Amino acid sequence: MSRKLWLPYAQMQTAPELIRVVDAQGPHLILQDGQRLIDGISSWWSVIHGYAHPKINAAAKEQIDRFSHMMMCGLGNDPAEQLAERLVEITPEPLQHVFFSDSGSVGVEVAMKMAVQYWGNQGTPKSRFMAFRHAYHGDTTACMSVADPSEGMHSTFRGLSPEQIFAPMPLDCGQCAGGCDHLAQVERLLVQHQHELAAVIIEPLIQCAGGFRRHSPRFLQQLRQLCDRYNTLLIFDEVATGFGRTGSMFAMDQAQVCPDLLVLGKGLTCGYSAHAATLACERIYQGFGPGTNSPVFMHGPTFMGNALACRIALAGLELFSQENRLSDVGRIENQLKKGLSDLSIQGVVDTRVLGAIGVIEVDHPDRLIGVQAFAMQRGVWLRPFERYLYTMPPYITSPEEMTQVIETMRAWCESDSFQSVGVR
Ligand code: PMP
Repeated sequence: MSRKLWLPYAQMQTAPELIRVVDAQGPHLILQDGQRLIDGISSWWSVIHGYAHPKINAAAKEQIDRFSHMMMCGLGNDPAEQLAERLVEITPEPLQHVFFSDSGSVGVEVAMKMAVQYWGNQGTPKSRFMAFRHAYHGDTTACMSVADPSEGMHSTFRGLSPEQIFAPMPLDCGQCAGGCDHLAQVERLLVQHQHELAAVIIEPLIQCAGGFRRHSPRFLQQLRQLCDRYNTLLIFDEVATGFGRTGSMFAMDQAQVCPDLLVLGKGLTCGYSAHAATLACERIYQGFGPGTNSPVFMHGPTFMGNALACRIALAGLELFSQENRLSDVGRIENQLKKGLSDLSIQGVVDTRVLGAIGVIEVDHPDRLIGVQAFAMQRGVWLRPFERYLYTMPPYITSPEEMTQVIETMRAWCESDSFQSVGVR
């Protein structure tokens, strides 16, 4: 098969035809044959306010009529300045400076580069990172290096990505929060590697692409203390968890912990365009002062501070107050809890809900073969991975539409296709 379009994470000889979408409105994808599907995963978790939101559309059109983009070097634009101000306002006080880039992965790379350059400027060069088992932080080279060493792409790209240090992730089991062995292992690694660790990177509260594994807010507090004790920076990757997804504006708010560097993406631009932001605390920013070894942060993507993306992000942020968006997330969370918690079926290992994230973990990936077609017949778009059937819907998804999503997920687990998979 020859295809012009090369698809992500797909064997191109066997990849099925793409399902063509001709329109999208609110939570719905509208297909060529007129079928409407509720997008149960918000286009890889980004379309938080739904498709074609009238207020975001209006803001985007207004900006396009002026200009969409201009370089950030030497030239400034209001939307980028205003968005930087807004992001500083809605994040904890120590985060004071915003560096824009073009995707979540690049935002993570920026944070990692800032950390390395910062330590070089301190006269104590450190360039390795500690991450957690099962982590995922993006697909570019440095990001791959902090992904789980066996589940990530380490073997495929050996030699390209640097080797990092991995700690076990204390799970939200009640025991770990109280200083179980996992926490002690994290500390032992920090003691052992403090001389070379530029930063610890973690997706706070829940590892999304890492299998929706949760840890406690308490663990984040302990991690912050450990990073301070062993003189290592702390990076929060809130590309997936940011902008309401876990029930609060940012996952870190639930732990009341502030990182040294924070990465935002996905919901930042509401699924309209690619953009990311890396926020730095004053200490890091001041670490690039005149007279330091390397006073200039060496990164500058063409599209950073893109005016259209920033205008869209500003309009999206306004919707959190104008339309009380976090209460929508709370409503979805309640509905998911009611709808999934009693699912006691052979093959279902666990169900987990946090904010607008609802997950059914099954015992074998084969149980999920066929679920996508099944869900489409019921008017829902889902895309499970590995052993996880999950939903991360747009927050504007109505109670009735959420019922449809939840019922579809449950119905699949009750179906013969699910039950007939022989798992030993
Ligand atoms: N970090 C996390 C936690 C993510 O979930 C993702 C994307 N799924 C990324 C980084 C990378 O973002 P992007 O795909 O925009 O490069």
